Amino acid sequence: MFENEERSGLSGHHGHRNDCGSYDDEEPPGKPKRHPLWRKVPKKNWDDWRWQSQNAIRSVRQLRDLLPFTPEELEAIGALEAEYKLAIPPYFFSLINVDDPNDPIRLQSVTSPLEANSTFELEDPLDEDKDSPVPGITHRYPDRVLMVTTHVCTMYCRFCTRKRATMVRGGWDAISRNDERMLEYVRDHPQIRDVIVSGGDPLTLPPAKLKYFLHNLRDIPHVDVIRIGTRVPTTLPQKLYDSELLDILESAEKVWIQTHFNHPREITPEVARVCKSLLMRGMPLNNHSVLMKGVNDDLATMRKLVRALLRVKIRPYLLFHCDPVIGAGHFRTSIWKGMEIMEGLRGHLSGLAIPTYVVDAPHGGGKIPLMPNYLVSASDDCVILRNYEGMLVRYQAEDKSATIRPTANRGVSQLIQGTQTAIVPRESERLDRRRQYLQNEAAAKESAASCDDHDEQPNGRELLASLPVVAER
Ligand code: SF4
Repeated sequence: MFENEERSGLSGHHGHRNDCGSYDDEEPPGKPKRHPLWRKVPKKNWDDWRWQSQNAIRSVRQLRDLLPFTPEELEAIGALEAEYKLAIPPYFFSLINVDDPNDPIRLQSVTSPLEANSTFELEDPLDEDKDSPVPGITHRYPDRVLMVTTHVCTMYCRFCTRKRATMVRGGWDAISRNDERMLEYVRDHPQIRDVIVSGGDPLTLPPAKLKYFLHNLRDIPHVDVIRIGTRVPTTLPQKLYDSELLDILESAEKVWIQTHFNHPREITPEVARVCKSLLMRGMPLNNHSVLMKGVNDDLATMRKLVRALLRVKIRPYLLFHCDPVIGAGHFRTSIWKGMEIMEGLRGHLSGLAIPTYVVDAPHGGGKIPLMPNYLVSASDDCVILRNYEGMLVRYQAEDKSATIRPTANRGVSQLIQGTQTAIVPRESERLDRRRQYLQNEAAAKESAASCDDHDEQPNGRELLASLPVVAER
């Protein structure tokens, strides 16, 4: 936990411990964790993705032995088992605090009775299938396409936007029938510069199939970027210990990895290791997160997440508002929650840490960015902007003589009239620092002046008056 956050009561609401070790009070990447069930598994097996996949939790019967449920809950999630797939590798399951029914890792991975309550939500909330010229391809934006290469995932996220493909039993359409047609579509459309290879999770593909897609895309001259959307680094990083997989990714030359981390506790030493491998092989790492109730819908958690991402050199890229997808209604927050979080990030944290908050619009409208207002008012001569501190500042964008209209007025209007240039909040660390600096400088000059009667440098009072602060509120 960050020192300042602790003092100001900003800590998240999931601070728990159990015998698996510490949880949210640990700075990511924390320590490797294992649920007691797997404590004695040899490290060789634990680090082997095949062992992890073979031992994944795939049934309510297994869940029942690992987590406490009421009989009603068991009945409800048992009924959902026939509808939605379940898979949680032991590695990811071990990140769950089993004593907390609202644990953010558990909410993302373990079936919840609330999934049965979705009413408004849709199977294809983004209308991806309607913008699909070839099965598996979604062509929505001018210069990029989405290519769904598999319906298999290492873990089935409870909030997944493509549940229609990945989670409904029997939804395992043999999309491989369309592999060549998808590549042909990209070849035939020179405006396509960026191909998002997704799924399911493309890193679950057999090596030969992954190589086939990536090398074919690499060889299309107009494709500049191959983006791989994957949750493997989050849910089964052991898969990326495999040098054969890393070789395939590197040999495709144009690959960018789009990770998907939602909570700071997902950034583990195992994740740090695979990020380093990917970066060393020349693949940039960008993350998207989904804003979800109980998982990351508070500022402290999101700050911790974006800082943790930067620590392992992943750039926070997008923060998605949770899509209205079947079985995920209970994760959805208000838009205001997203705005509140963005207000607490922008300016307060390094620009590298700031994702773009987007709503993926219905009817295939695509990603629409949302952010708090920084443009407060405007005139022909200037705009009034506000910064993260709440400072309001008059900004003249064009090179023309300043127009000052001294009109009896106050507040923002005074900035527009040009009789003031800024309104600053009473508390500003930045201006306190500046005042201190000027006071020190003034004191030094006064002391020098007393030794030299001919010194014509401004005194401390004049220097303080040069502060841009013309009013306080
Ligand atoms: S890994 Fe991605 S595609 Fe697979 S279930 Fe999770 S969100 Fe959906």
